[in-house]
Amino acid sequence: MKEPVVIVGAGLSGLRAASLLQSKGISCRVLERAAGLGAGF
Ligand SMILES: Cc1cc2nc3c(=O)[nH]c(=O)nc-3n(C[C@H](O)[C@H](O)[C@H](O)COP(=O)(O)OP(=O)(O)OC[C@H]3O[C@@H](n4cnc5c(N)ncnc54)[C@H](O)[C@@H]3O)c2cc1C
Repeated sequence: MKEPVVIVGAGLSGLRAASLLQSKGISCRVLERAAGLGAGF
């Protein structure tokens, strides 16, 4: 059984991981505690 992919944090690392997964056809959910994406940038 495939486990769902959850990425905690929409900073540089989280967004890059999500992008790589999506490019391979793997869906994921990104959880971010702050209001915006990309941490401080
Ligand atoms: C003041 C400062 C200036 C910098 N300037 C530069 C620069 O000019 N150039 C450069 O290349 N690098 C710079 N850096 C370094 C850069 O910020 C980091 O290398 C990069 O952001 C690390 O990415 P990350 O995804 O690992 O972490 P982060 O970018 O910190 O992302 C982590 C994310 O996870 C979220 N998060 C944390 N805990 C939880 C939780 N429990 N639930 C949900 N979400 C959570 C946070 O809100 C955040 O959005 C700077 C860093 C600082 C502190």
